[in-house]
Amino acid sequence: MDPIQDVPMLINAEAHSPKGGAWIDSTFPYTQKTWCRIPRGTAADADTAVSAAVAAFEDPRWAGLTPTARGKLLYRLADLFEAKAEEFARLEVMDNGKRITEMLGQMRRIPDWYRYFAGLADKVEGAVLPNENQAVLNITRPGPLGVIVCITPWNSPLLLAAYKLAPALAAGNTIILKPSEFTSASSLAFGQLFDEAGFPPGVVNVVTGYGQEIGEALVTDKRIAKVSFTGGEAGGRAVYRAATEHFHEVALELGGKSPNIVFPDADLENASNGVLAGIFAATGQTCIAGSRLLVHRNIYDDLVERLIEKSKNLKMGDPLDPATQVAPVATAAQHAKILEYMEIARSEGATCVLGGGAGQGASCGDGLFVQPTIFTGVTNSMRIAREEVFGPVLSVISFEDEDDAIAIANDTDFGLAAGLWTQDLSSAVRLSDRLRAGTVWVNTYRAVSYTSPFGGVKQSGIGRENGMKAIEEFMSTKSIWFNTAPVVPNPFA
Ligand code: NAD
Repeated sequence: MDPIQDVPMLINAEAHSPKGGAWIDSTFPYTQKTWCRIPRGTAADADTAVSAAVAAFEDPRWAGLTPTARGKLLYRLADLFEAKAEEFARLEVMDNGKRITEMLGQMRRIPDWYRYFAGLADKVEGAVLPNENQAVLNITRPGPLGVIVCITPWNSPLLLAAYKLAPALAAGNTIILKPSEFTSASSLAFGQLFDEAGFPPGVVNVVTGYGQEIGEALVTDKRIAKVSFTGGEAGGRAVYRAATEHFHEVALELGGKSPNIVFPDADLENASNGVLAGIFAATGQTCIAGSRLLVHRNIYDDLVERLIEKSKNLKMGDPLDPATQVAPVATAAQHAKILEYMEIARSEGATCVLGGGAGQGASCGDGLFVQPTIFTGVTNSMRIAREEVFGPVLSVISFEDEDDAIAIANDTDFGLAAGLWTQDLSSAVRLSDRLRAGTVWVNTYRAVSYTSPFGGVKQSGIGRENGMKAIEEFMSTKSIWFNTAPVVPNPFA
């Protein structure tokens, strides 16, 4: 992973340049300078990748491995990844501009995703089924699905790839990974580890390019079995339509507008830290951002004051500098979108009490920064409370009582996550039951683990990643009937 200029795709464990000959610039968000180029893959490259993955799926070098042997390959991969965690963190920062400390934290956790599913590879069991005919032995055998197309967004490329690749490989599938056109370098470098770990060629292929070009070609290829997609609403909708039209299985991890709800009995010091981590970490560029702060009216002013106090002097700067607290946003389009939402919030009558514009100053370099921003006086019908901004913009909404809080929290198209801050255990249990979200955090926020199912309800997605059952999302069950009767009767006698 030395200085990279043109980074080719990886198909069948070989470098693959785009058949169309076009490349896409990857820019470092802090300097806005191109630091490498990635292939602009097209349908022709998708076709080659699918052929390689189909062949690898049938190849005895992969298909003939025991689940335990597949697990061993994943353990080896995890060790190789661990040794390069710092290099991968740097590649991620160069592409998405997130803080090095945050990306390093992610990279150091990723090996455990592969280890967890390595251990699960030989623990998925079939069953012996009761049958009304005593002469019949009916068993089920779980097996891999086939070729899995894994499509990832730009905000956490390698972590979100691990959510998909670790269980899918443990289950015996083959993979085509298509990272975001903005952040492909880390996935291309990661792809090289599979050969080194001993995976047969074609088991993991990495292709790059635009969603509407190579992405669509992959999803509409009849030979694939499943699409596992993480991204936004428009891409998710297009992928869902294409995948279902071709009868592919599909899993979608989409956006959110998650409520972080603070009750009057909460420890406000802890709650304010959790609220800040939920919205300003990663410059708000996270699907689980706690972008709606629901606060009981009795503690509204107190909590808002604490939030302002803790965020008004955060240090903007180079994301590669460990001292930086606020990094640039990833793309110019993202920057413009966040600023536009600030204007929308103002025009709808919300009051800006912190930030509210682009970040500027010597430490910002040529990066596109956004100030950590808080709007008070927000109502849940405003667009700033209903649409995903994907930036460091917190909307503060007041509530009266428990029922009011739940009604506001659930009044959204999304259902990815929610936070609850209270010292009262029984109300925490009751409220977590009533929240319509895939994850509820009580007195913490933004925690994820390979052990815990993750995913959304409503427009936040379909399916679950992580946890023991995630491996079954990449398997199909075959029912096998053995007749042990000595005579098979003639149906016409
Ligand atoms: P995006 O939807 O624009 O792109 C995601 C990926 O899909 C990219 O690789 C893109 O090239 C591809 N793509 C887009 N259109 C496609 C099509 N028609 N066919 C095939 N592939 C296509 O999303 P983004 O801007 O990269 O990421 C931000 C979004 O991702 C936010 O909405 C965020 O909430 C969401 N996200 C969700 C989760 C989760 O786990 N729920 C995690 C991270 C990000």
